[in-house]
Amino acid sequence: MEDSIRQKYLRSLPGVDQVLQRDILINLQKDYPQGVINDAARNVVNGLRGLILQADSEDKLNKMDFQIDSIARLTAEKVKETLRPKLRNVINATGIVLHTNLGRSLLAEKAVEAVKDVTRHYSNLEYDLDTGERGSRHMHVEDLLCHLTGAEGALVVNNNAAAVLLVLNTLAKDREVVISRAQLVEIGGSFRVPQVMAQSGAYLVEVGTTNKTHYRDYEEAIGENTGMILKVHTSNYQVIGFTSQVSGFELAGLGQKYDLPVVEDLGSGVFVDLKEYGLEGEPTVPESIREGLDLVTFSGDKLLGGPQAGIIVGKKDFTEKIKKNQLARALRIDKMTLAALEATLQLYLNEEDAVKDIPTLRMLTLPLTVLEARAFNMVSYLKEQLRGKAQIKVADGFSQVGGGALPREEIPTKLVSLQPYKMSTLEVIERLREEEIPVIARIQKNQVLVDLRTVSEEEIHLLRDSLVRVIKKV
Ligand SMILES: *Cc1c(COP(=O)(O)O)cnc(C)c1O
Repeated sequence: MEDSIRQKYLRSLPGVDQVLQRDILINLQKDYPQGVINDAARNVVNGLRGLILQADSEDKLNKMDFQIDSIARLTAEKVKETLRPKLRNVINATGIVLHTNLGRSLLAEKAVEAVKDVTRHYSNLEYDLDTGERGSRHMHVEDLLCHLTGAEGALVVNNNAAAVLLVLNTLAKDREVVISRAQLVEIGGSFRVPQVMAQSGAYLVEVGTTNKTHYRDYEEAIGENTGMILKVHTSNYQVIGFTSQVSGFELAGLGQKYDLPVVEDLGSGVFVDLKEYGLEGEPTVPESIREGLDLVTFSGDKLLGGPQAGIIVGKKDFTEKIKKNQLARALRIDKMTLAALEATLQLYLNEEDAVKDIPTLRMLTLPLTVLEARAFNMVSYLKEQLRGKAQIKVADGFSQVGGGALPREEIPTKLVSLQPYKMSTLEVIERLREEEIPVIARIQKNQVLVDLRTVSEEEIHLLRDSLVRVIKKV
């Protein structure tokens, strides 16, 4: 291509100053900083200049749009994109309730209000209103946690990984921790029991085999330098078949015999018996305390349905010792989380409230009839809007608990299944992610599947509109 052609196009490109004079960008000035608008206009114009310089045929240049209004529109989009939060709301249409990548638990309304309150005002976070002296941030939830679990003492840290690290570091630094080979778990890639153990300064002593560990295996491993016995709930997998593990009750007895603390990392902390709601049983925190374990740790944002937090409950001697560890300061919980946690825990004072008001529990226990009605409603709307574009029907399927809890639990659900005629399912899924409020759905056997279990009532019409917009495009 001749250079003169290139020059012609370069000359036709409007200057940044001209672009900035367009109404669409002038109007942005009241909501966006001028510097951001200027930068965006410069980037867009420079980008086009680069394209002209790189183009290898006039044909290509002819197809490009160098209109000043198009450039201004593109600039306006860039400006809005720059200032849109990077951490955004999405619609979770996967049916995975505790989706760690999508933020795990949603907070109950009361917890949301508590967060707003504590951030808008000063609080008695570490101030004792009785004495007018310095208080402890742990006091706000300790009584509640003891009441709900039957433990003597409690403290709360940043997350359960921190809780385990802190317990190991406080009670077993430079000493050996005995654990069954079947329980050396990895959770979500970044939490691996052996690594956490190494970080804490404790030494791992594995006993038993992958499928069977006996009381005598633990007992034979106990020596002069043993500091603790650790039991880890295998929350995200199960060893089935020819297996046996030692119960918390028996381990508690062993600990007493040798004067060693016995700790259980429960992973997902539950206070209610999920079996009563038709779900697979998961050991509850009160059960572990009743078995006689000295300390139990669990997450705030798994089945408990609260904010991200690590909760440590158990014998007071130990919880007090842990509070004094210097590491506790580094791993401490912040006031917003604490407020959300207190409000969530209060809901557990009445189990009915908990199941009704805590989104995680509410979604997990949604009756199939409700899900079916929602799916039918959506299907009839979509069929009308997308006639000739896709095959749309209600399908049977399963939702998952997720978050490494109840690994084998598949909860029957009713799905909206879409099979577009002229678009690949992959394309649909990708375009759904590009929506203003991105929609995360799944694909199975050439169908796009939408599970309404994890979609709130307010989100349903947004989801519906997104599906229509994306599939109508073809
Ligand atoms: C999830 C889990 C953890 C990590 O908890 P976080 O709150 O995500 O830090 C640790 N141990 C077990 C057994 C778990 O299931």
